[in-house]
Amino acid sequence: MTEICYLCGKPIPTGEVSYDHAVPKQFIKRSQPKVKGFDYAGVLPSHGACNNEFGSELYSQKALILIKALYDEDCFLKRQHRDNPAISIMALNSDCLPGFNKRDFEFFKFIDVRNENYGDWSNPTFFSDKKKTNPIKDALYTALSVLAKSAAALLVSRHLDDVPSFWRIVAVPYVGGGKVDIDKLLGDTKPFDAGVKAWIRQMENNDWFVVYKAEDVLVYFLFWFSGDKAVVDSVSKIFDDADRFLFEGNQLNQLVKYEWQKV
Ligand SMILES: [Zn+2]
Repeated sequence: MTEICYLCGKPIPTGEVSYDHAVPKQFIKRSQPKVKGFDYAGVLPSHGACNNEFGSELYSQKALILIKALYDEDCFLKRQHRDNPAISIMALNSDCLPGFNKRDFEFFKFIDVRNENYGDWSNPTFFSDKKKTNPIKDALYTALSVLAKSAAALLVSRHLDDVPSFWRIVAVPYVGGGKVDIDKLLGDTKPFDAGVKAWIRQMENNDWFVVYKAEDVLVYFLFWFSGDKAVVDSVSKIFDDADRFLFEGNQLNQLVKYEWQKV
């Protein structure tokens, strides 16, 4: 039987199957596959090229740590430049970003001033050749895309008969979600690793609801295949004023570097 790549939805020529982990390897520190007390999500068939598209998965765990820091007032300072108020600076305490290396800072487009002297970077000309960036957006979109892909992989491998030909995903991220007891709300679920869990429920109209937790970041995903506005409205009611983001695409590959739309 020809296998279908869950990332692009197209058949994979015999002998060219590449297997992709449903839960990113970066999230799993224990030895895989099977350990008592933990769930093992396994692998899904994909094209090697499609699998490689998600290079940003390497940054998924870092993206979550960064999001956590960006929501923690002890971790960052937001200031306007003293001499040029048009420049706003967000300074992050690197203690809140354990394990971040030069490549990680570059990926999230930080300007590392730890080895620069203050006189240099306190001068507005230091920023004249620097691109204006938004690390919150980059970190959030990277994390949403990686978690949405993993949630979709779990749906495809465990619940759906076919790889959908159209994806519509609404994401509601929550930071510090550790306080919310999802087990109590949706029933106990075995973790993939300490602190890494996904709760999957089918809704009455056959849309799917997936709550994904990793690194104390919780993301509520509505796999909104129906496009029925009443469903998204009823889910929105639970979250009040939380930000909601939308992904729409024919293939999960489009999640790579996707600009999630606020809805
Ligand atoms: Zn593919």
